[in-house]
Amino acid sequence: MPRSRTPATAWLGLGGNVGDPVAAMAEALSRLDAHPDCAVSAVSRLYRTPPWGKTDQDWFFNSAAAIETTLGPHGLLDLCLEIERAMKRIRQERWGPRTLDMDILAYDDLPVHDDRLTLPHPRMLDRAFVLMPLADVAPSLVIGGSPVAAWLADADKAGIEIADEDRGWWKALRK
Ligand code: ADP
Ligand code: MG
Repeated sequence: MPRSRTPATAWLGLGGNVGDPVAAMAEALSRLDAHPDCAVSAVSRLYRTPPWGKTDQDWFFNSAAAIETTLGPHGLLDLCLEIERAMKRIRQERWGPRTLDMDILAYDDLPVHDDRLTLPHPRMLDRAFVLMPLADVAPSLVIGGSPVAAWLADADKAGIEIADEDRGWWKALRK
């Protein structure tokens, strides 16, 4: 990572339910970590979660990561979308099946609201499948006036399972 600019911290939420989503998330995190402007500083445990929104589809795997990056928020979004495309994400229906969804949950404490990007992520606070992994890496991160752990305490966690306690799950799968 270039030393000329102080890196920002960004928190990402990952998930998928098509093909091999765990391998797709591991590959995505490895690509981010290998990028010259990004370093993965923490990864959550691996979660298995019931489908949300559109419930007649397979269960999801979800995770979260903290990233140190010298990219700006839009540059990081571009990189995430590029990695999603590389993982051959199937984008047919909203909340439908997907190989990999990678969202930026927050970027330092910077609010963003434009055509391409909303930060903090507007739908994260009522989704336990986002909050639970995020609480592994950033329980004290304040979003919308409260720490992530407090939002999680109030969220509906029904059905969510821990698929791997080992936070190195994404490295074990590295090719
Ligand atoms: P969702 O993640 O809500 O299920 P999609 O992944 O299909 O929906 O939405 C992708 C689009 O959402 C991206 O093209 C991007 O421009 C936009 N977007 C807005 N805010 C964010 C964010 N915080 N993280 C990722 N994508 C975002
Ligand atoms: Mg998304």
